Amino acid sequence: MLLGAHVSTSGGIDKAIDRIESIGGDAVQVFSQSPRAWRPTDHKPEAVERFKERRAEAGVGSVVCHATYLINLGATDDVIYHKSVNALKETMETAHAIGSEGVVFHLGSHLGRGFDQAMHQVIPALQVVLGERDRHSLDPWLLIENAAGHEGTRTSARARSASAWPPSSDARGCRSSPR
Ligand SMILES: [Zn+2]
Repeated sequence: MLLGAHVSTSGGIDKAIDRIESIGGDAVQVFSQSPRAWRPTDHKPEAVERFKERRAEAGVGSVVCHATYLINLGATDDVIYHKSVNALKETMETAHAIGSEGVVFHLGSHLGRGFDQAMHQVIPALQVVLGERDRHSLDPWLLIENAAGHEGTRTSARARSASAWPPSSDARGCRSSPR
């Protein structure tokens, strides 16, 4: 069993490995960019290489990137919706670059319209992100974090997560995160 924690990337993304090693973890989650901004962090190539080297040295078995909190695939504002899809694509690319196995994100809120209404835009968004993943041969899984269901958040139940999967080959590599 792997046991780990979410740690800071302050000082460079490779520092996350130092931090998880120092507390004896063999799995780690990081924000690959600011969790409260849209703009992806431009990681220095040396830091990315160092991250992978240090991960191997430290024997870290799993790395997951948490995407920005701003993502809302249920957004009624088109600008927010498209930014959300782009942020997910960018996080998948960064995660791939550092050798991460997964990108975890929050679907967002249906903003009072109801779960079924929002699914009409959530499913195409997932199809776009997973399509890009396949097109660019990216490795990370796309992981949807469960929410408690407050204020219109989705995936408050495993059954709902399951119903979100597009019934196509694009769904490869998509799974719900464990509770
Ligand atoms: Zn989260």
